[in-house]
Amino acid sequence: MARYVFVVGGVMSGIGKGITTASVGNILKSYGYRVTAIKIDPYINVDAGTMNPVEHGEVFVTDDGLECDQDIGNYERFLDQNMYRLNYMTTGAVYQSVITRERNLFYQGKCVEVVPHIPEEVIARITQAGKKTKSDFVLVEIGGTVGEYQNLLFLEAARMLKLRHPKDVLFIMVSYLPVPGTIGEMKTKPTQHATRSLNSAGIQPDIIVARAPVLLDRPRKQKIAVFCNINEEDVISAPDIQSVYEVPINFARDKISERIFLHFGIRSRAHRNGHWNNFVRRARNAKKEVRIGIVGKYFATGKFTLSDSYISVIEAIKHSAWRQGCCPIIDWLAAESYENSAAALLGLKRYDGIIVPGGFGSRGVEGKIKVIHYARTHHIPYLGICYGMQLAVIEFARSLAGMPGANSTEIDPKTPFPVIGLLEEQETLLKEKKYGGSMRLGSYRCEVRPKTKSMRFYRERNITERHRHRYELNNKFRNQLEQHGLAVAGIHPQKNLVEIIELPDHPFFVGTQFHPEFKSRPFHPHPLFNGLIMAAKTRCLGRAEKKWRRTTSRVTQKKQR
Ligand code: GLN
Repeated sequence: MARYVFVVGGVMSGIGKGITTASVGNILKSYGYRVTAIKIDPYINVDAGTMNPVEHGEVFVTDDGLECDQDIGNYERFLDQNMYRLNYMTTGAVYQSVITRERNLFYQGKCVEVVPHIPEEVIARITQAGKKTKSDFVLVEIGGTVGEYQNLLFLEAARMLKLRHPKDVLFIMVSYLPVPGTIGEMKTKPTQHATRSLNSAGIQPDIIVARAPVLLDRPRKQKIAVFCNINEEDVISAPDIQSVYEVPINFARDKISERIFLHFGIRSRAHRNGHWNNFVRRARNAKKEVRIGIVGKYFATGKFTLSDSYISVIEAIKHSAWRQGCCPIIDWLAAESYENSAAALLGLKRYDGIIVPGGFGSRGVEGKIKVIHYARTHHIPYLGICYGMQLAVIEFARSLAGMPGANSTEIDPKTPFPVIGLLEEQETLLKEKKYGGSMRLGSYRCEVRPKTKSMRFYRERNITERHRHRYELNNKFRNQLEQHGLAVAGIHPQKNLVEIIELPDHPFFVGTQFHPEFKSRPFHPHPLFNGLIMAAKTRCLGRAEKKWRRTTSRVTQKKQR
């Protein structure tokens, strides 16, 4: 039987439960154990697909087509393994299966109740995930923070599982210790309160991961131990760090694996984490700066800027940059600011690479098209992802293929040149308002064409990539676009859909209908991101050389004078 490690949050959200879960998984894997991880989101949405990224962060997509929380992406990156539908559940999904079963007379006339039927369904999902993946450890991250009404039933499920298998369930609470500026001392009280809340759900934490701006000192650890009823050694310090990939190394310093093994009564064994350490070292030593601009519209939330909406894109940039010894400087650029400002467009000159990632709807679209035009005509390396590919096709059609007013029917249903149109099977779905989980989702095959730039980076003909879209390049316009120089570099053979476009006479201009960022991993940076960074590096060197020439010629001119 698998062992279960629940990760819950105390004090506040956004303190790294996902990274903690992923890091614990990473460490356990380094001991040769089979590990899987489950994310539980307490909202009613059946999946994350219908949520605005500004509210909820990126919608991650698995190979089997689930639209889920961005933490699933963290699990994939830290565990270097694919996650599937069984790795994710929400309150909505749990209720939906119980209600469907009730309608099918599964409960044979019994009164179906919130307790125990909902926690039972949660337990069944968790244990089945362990069995199906044949895992030694199942990590379960419960979203939200303890004390919230919303995640009570999930805590109840965890408590019940512990009661059934006392030796096989462990609780980690991720807490936060603030250092208020006016006091200048790290405070443990919020953690004490969070532990009490968890206790009132019938759960005692075994390990407390203490997030804080700095390392915890001994007095703080002792205080938490006494007031939260745990061993001092079970307080794991998790200070703020530059890169999330350093967290497993930090945890190892406080010997988290030994504590976990001790709780489960397992003898520790040899482990190998050299690979990960090398990766982190390479990241630390990457010094050559490349500046990448991401042009999107899901950044602003009130007075704050959110980068979570594009987290996989950001991580994919880092993986490829670090692999090539570069340190990426990533700027979030608001699409709308390019709509009517030539000065803003001129500012794009400073970028070594530009990405227009996925998106929906018409806000900011004309700004993105102007950015693409600039990148194309000024030879700035460009990667267009999904919407970014569709908008690149639109820009090309308007500027080079004699199709003024070309557009996607998503933006302008009456466009004279619908170069991007709705996928056939989507029409009825949209008419019937069946929006949830109904896009072209998950992994599809793509054939990369020989002698293209994309082939140079993929180095294989048959690839699979993950999708999330309703619209596609309209095959009616394909010939006309190709005649004017747009190269089709990848095709989904079964349905003859265009999956990759590129421009042959540009340093790097590639658009993909799929989302390459979802498949980039620390040890396997994505081929197309590698291509973008390679081109960005060249541009950066070129700019440095130009600058050097300018200054040296100024110096010689001065001397001559
Ligand atoms: N809105 C576009 C579509 O549905 C692009 C989607 C995306 O970028 N993920 O096809």
